[in-house]
Amino acid sequence: MAVYRGPVCRLCRREHEKLFLKGDRCFTEKCAIERRNVVPGQHGMLRRRQASEYGTQLREKQKTKRTYGLLEKQFRGYFEEAAHAKGVTGENLLQLLELRLDNIVFRMGFGPNRNTSRQLVRHGHFMVNGRKASIPSIRLKVGDVVELVESSRNLQIVQGALAGASRRPDIEWLSVDKVKLAGRVLATPVRTQIPTPVNEQLIVELYSK
Ligand code: SF4
Repeated sequence: MAVYRGPVCRLCRREHEKLFLKGDRCFTEKCAIERRNVVPGQHGMLRRRQASEYGTQLREKQKTKRTYGLLEKQFRGYFEEAAHAKGVTGENLLQLLELRLDNIVFRMGFGPNRNTSRQLVRHGHFMVNGRKASIPSIRLKVGDVVELVESSRNLQIVQGALAGASRRPDIEWLSVDKVKLAGRVLATPVRTQIPTPVNEQLIVELYSK
C-alpha cells in the first residue's frame, strides 16, 4: 500500500491542530503547532477565507484519514463498510478504524505513534492470540490478545513508547499488562471511549453528497 512519506508535522499545520502523529515530541514545545501554527506553503501566512460547508467537511475527513494514517481508497472502503453496517455510520467508521491492529498497538502504548506501530507490526514484532501477525489492518475482536514476540521485548522503541504512554488518555476498552507486554481487547469502543477529536458526522455528510 502506498504511504505518505512527507514531513508529518506539515499535516498537522494544514489542519491547524495537533494530530499527535509523532509521539513524545507532540507533547513538548518543539511541536510545530506550538512553534508556528500556520498553513504550510508560500501563502500560509495569508488570512484564511471563511471555509465553505464542503470545505469544512473535507477538512474533517482529511484530518481523520491522516490521524489514522490511511490513504483515500482505504478510508473510503472503511466508510462504505460503516454505512452498510447496523448503527450510526460515523460511530461505526471510528470503531472500524480503532480496531485495526496497528491502532491497537499504539493505543496499548507499545508504539509511540500509529506510523511506527504499523512498522513494528509489519516487521513481525507482535502476535495476536499466540500467532504471529504482520498485517497492520487486521481487525481485532473482543477478547483478542496482542503481545510482543519474545525476541522483541527489549526493543528500545517499545520501552520508550511505554514510558511515554502515560501522557496519553486511558483507553477503557483495552487492558494492558506492561510487565508481560501484552494486552486484551475488552469491548468494542463506543464513541465516548474513542479520544479522537473529530466530528465524524461531517465525514458522513461529505460522502453522502
Ligand atoms: Fe503534529 Fe506532533 Fe508534529 Fe506537533 S509534533 S505538529 S502534534 S506531529
